[in-house]
Amino acid sequence: MKSNIGRDSYICYNLKRDYNICKREEKMAKLYFRYGAMGSSKSANALMVEYNYRERGKHALLAKPCADKRDGERVIKSRIGLQHSCIWTEELVELSDEEVQQYDCIIIDEAQFCTKEQIEYFVHLVDELNIPVICYGLRADFQNNLFPGSLWLLAWADVIEEVKTVCWCGRAARCNARFNEHGIIREGAQVVLGGNDSYVAVCRKHLREGNLGPDFRFEQDAEEKDSVK
Ligand SMILES: [Zn+2]
Repeated sequence: MKSNIGRDSYICYNLKRDYNICKREEKMAKLYFRYGAMGSSKSANALMVEYNYRERGKHALLAKPCADKRDGERVIKSRIGLQHSCIWTEELVELSDEEVQQYDCIIIDEAQFCTKEQIEYFVHLVDELNIPVICYGLRADFQNNLFPGSLWLLAWADVIEEVKTVCWCGRAARCNARFNEHGIIREGAQVVLGGNDSYVAVCRKHLREGNLGPDFRFEQDAEEKDSVK
């Protein structure tokens, strides 16, 4: 993978900005959508924001949709080894206003899998309860179609920000190529539960060309990805 360029400096920038969100909490809360391609450190960012709140004696609640069974149970895991327990967004929406008001911030991972109703609930948390909600997720699927959660977040979020990563060619990678040992996959369901397909972030040009780079070997890279799961 050649997608680490600039990531550390971007995370530092993010942390500084999250501190400002923390400081300004007495003002009007906002709904944030931070989208990024596969491997852009969205989960690591989500976990670091939670840690920042905790370090300042505040409480942020982590949640993710039940549809994301990739990491097993109620845990948000990042590829670099950070992890923390969370609840399902399906459970979050069942909390009373009094219960959810115990938290200074709500952080959602894999927000692309949220339903329209769940995102309407996030809007309620922001507008009526003045609790900031920070959502991390993919913008589009392997066919470059919006995910349902991303569609409504793009429509309603107060702040839309990109968590950046790069294609093998050096351009910004905003697309997710799905592949297996036979090559790039262009047809199929948006979400394949229990599938063995892997993903790599590429720029739009190289998604359209199906070009995953001169050094890319489908079989080898698919095996490496699977061993990480
Ligand atoms: Zn490219």
